[in-house]
Amino acid sequence: MTILDILRNKGIEANKVSNSKGGEYHSPCPGCGGNDRFIVWVDQNRYYCRQCRKSGDLIQFYRDFEGVSFKEAKSKASKLPNKQDNRKSSSSISLSPIEPSVQWISQADKLIVEAHNSLLVSDKCIETLLKRGLSLDSIKKYSLGWVEKDLWISPQEWGLKKEGKLWIPRGHLIPTFFNFLPLKLKIRTDTNQPDKKLAKYVEVPGSYQKLSIYGDMHRPVVLLESEFDAMLLQQFASDFCSCIALGGASKKPDKNLFMELQKCPLILYSLDYDQAGVNAFQWWYKNFQNLKVWMPPEEKSPGDAFKLGTNLRNWVYLGINRK
Ligand SMILES: [Zn+2]
Repeated sequence: MTILDILRNKGIEANKVSNSKGGEYHSPCPGCGGNDRFIVWVDQNRYYCRQCRKSGDLIQFYRDFEGVSFKEAKSKASKLPNKQDNRKSSSSISLSPIEPSVQWISQADKLIVEAHNSLLVSDKCIETLLKRGLSLDSIKKYSLGWVEKDLWISPQEWGLKKEGKLWIPRGHLIPTFFNFLPLKLKIRTDTNQPDKKLAKYVEVPGSYQKLSIYGDMHRPVVLLESEFDAMLLQQFASDFCSCIALGGASKKPDKNLFMELQKCPLILYSLDYDQAGVNAFQWWYKNFQNLKVWMPPEEKSPGDAFKLGTNLRNWVYLGINRK
């Protein structure tokens, strides 16, 4: 039994907000209510409530919300399989994701402009991005922003058919543009806030479920984990590579991108080899004969390698040209 299943049985609907840790869902808390305060990580089958601060695994869930003893909770949890496959879709490619509505795009555009202006007047928030290696030009080119405080948006105003309010956390706003339209918004949550359990990245509900592409796909493609790394690499080497940010190891290209990727001259695979990464790699390796593994020095992410002094332009150049 998964925590999501139990919530569903209780009539509580959870919304997926990101793909980190095998999928992160937000819902009302079965104990104290609210809208999105209850966070569930599917992969680990764990939860955390931002209001009442209850957190734990399945056994603890039974204790917290069904008032049973530890012994009872343990037997309830062990009766049923601990995990159910909620990630069916991750093993296959999706056909074609649905584009956000005109209403969503216009709200997204408004938020991008506001957040970008907030960023440009905050030295501290710019500094965080400069430390990652991004130049002021890149910050402007990619319309990066800063959301000063948690926002609770009305789904109706964004053209979404959902109940309650939707949460956009405080942090750096990372928009992704497709044909100049902002179709995907992500927040890199504030690293200085006390709530350490908050996910690093939160996707704004209703975002386009397509991988973020940077640069000209006729060039060799570098596959990366994060949008920041993709922007950084483009900053240094957009004249000879393009980048795709998966934004989660288990994410896959849709059908069109899949076909484009099969045609491109070379794919450099530069993603982490953590547990999720190994499974992801097998899928990519099986499907693309033009794939070559190209890890940054010390197997850090390119962003981390940059901080340690790696010349990213040279690193990609070698990856493409070395036999
Ligand atoms: Zn609660």
